[in-house]
Amino acid sequence: MAYTAPTSCREGHQQMNMNGYRCFACSATQAAEFDGFLCPVCAGNLDITYDYDQVAKNMGDGFLQSPRDLFRFATLLPLKQARSAFPLRVGGTPLYATRRLAESAGIRNLYLKDDTLNPSASLKDRASAVAIGRALDTGAEVVSVASTGNAGSSLACLAAATNLTAVVFVPASAPLAKLTQMLAFGARVLAVRGSYDDAFDLCLAASEEFGWFNRSTGYNAFTREGKKTCSYEIWQDLGGRVPDRVVVSTGDGNTLSAIWKGWCDLKAVGLIDRLPRIDCVQSESSAAISETVDQIRSGDEPEVNWSTLEVREVKASTVADSISVNRPRDGLAAVKAIIQSGGEAVTVADEEILAAIPGMARATGIFPEPAAAAPWAGLKQMILKQSITSDELVVCIVSGSGLKDIANARTVVGEPLVIEPSLEAVRECFAPLS
Ligand SMILES: [Zn+2]
Repeated sequence: MAYTAPTSCREGHQQMNMNGYRCFACSATQAAEFDGFLCPVCAGNLDITYDYDQVAKNMGDGFLQSPRDLFRFATLLPLKQARSAFPLRVGGTPLYATRRLAESAGIRNLYLKDDTLNPSASLKDRASAVAIGRALDTGAEVVSVASTGNAGSSLACLAAATNLTAVVFVPASAPLAKLTQMLAFGARVLAVRGSYDDAFDLCLAASEEFGWFNRSTGYNAFTREGKKTCSYEIWQDLGGRVPDRVVVSTGDGNTLSAIWKGWCDLKAVGLIDRLPRIDCVQSESSAAISETVDQIRSGDEPEVNWSTLEVREVKASTVADSISVNRPRDGLAAVKAIIQSGGEAVTVADEEILAAIPGMARATGIFPEPAAAAPWAGLKQMILKQSITSDELVVCIVSGSGLKDIANARTVVGEPLVIEPSLEAVRECFAPLS
């Protein structure tokens, strides 16, 4: 059957329960009509706020049930207009119980949230869908983004689907598959000779100069609102249970803070009565957020002063391009989420991340890109260190498909046996096994 969008959130105006913005650093608030991106007081990142009493009243029997996409969570999305122009299914991805993977690590309840099954094959589509919703609400025709790869291919994909023009700034070193996706979708791709951080600054300056709607993560507050729907879906697919832990690979920190916000929303509207820990996994070669969390936890200050906290800057060099970040643009929000949720902040070697690709793929049938394999690598480390007990209910977020970066996967998956086209040649291959 053809995919059909739900009419209740796709046509005409919807009841918007967003009531403003609050700064992650100084807590200054702005009204819902505010049309900037950063806190006008301190230039900190903004969090979108809701009238949760009104949400609870408007929810009726709960979220829309069908079809399975993120716009069924419209009561907790900051969009004025319905998404009649939104033809692709974003979100509604499966949550899999993974017994063999769980057993291999000695825990009982492990689930994978397979967000590789979004339109452009990464979780970033959730962010792009809601950011494009905002762009449509505000009448923007050109959307821009700085990206290590996935956010760019995602924005290009969804801009193509909604007939917007996408301009993508990527480091020239971005994986070929992600660049190819962007180009196939017709985006204007600017491959910057520099790092992601250089691409980010350039996208910001160009978007201001040309008046483009800048979807860049850690700048545009609407990306978090899309990604948080991942938590709503996990909650629904667990039948209303709250996991003990959600393990998230982390670069600039936006996804982790969004996963936390999703659970906080559910608690604020009275659907759950406790919150999970959110565990952060970073590469040792790009560990700005984990190092900041360690610094806070090893210090003597009982309370963190968020308005003065400086998130560390590092020189990132990890093979996991999606989480390779010198300066985490949503670092404060992520550090806050880890501290407030009581989560771990672990770092893993790139070799462990790469080994986790076939490790996960061969036990589950899900092929993750390096960043999407990192939660599994981090979880194994937490189990070894006994910071997780065997009966905890754990969810790992699988944030992007392995097909997006085959070059790194090829280094750890082995080589095919090249043979002559004869049965004899096949026999020779299997002789040691028979
Ligand atoms: Zn502020």
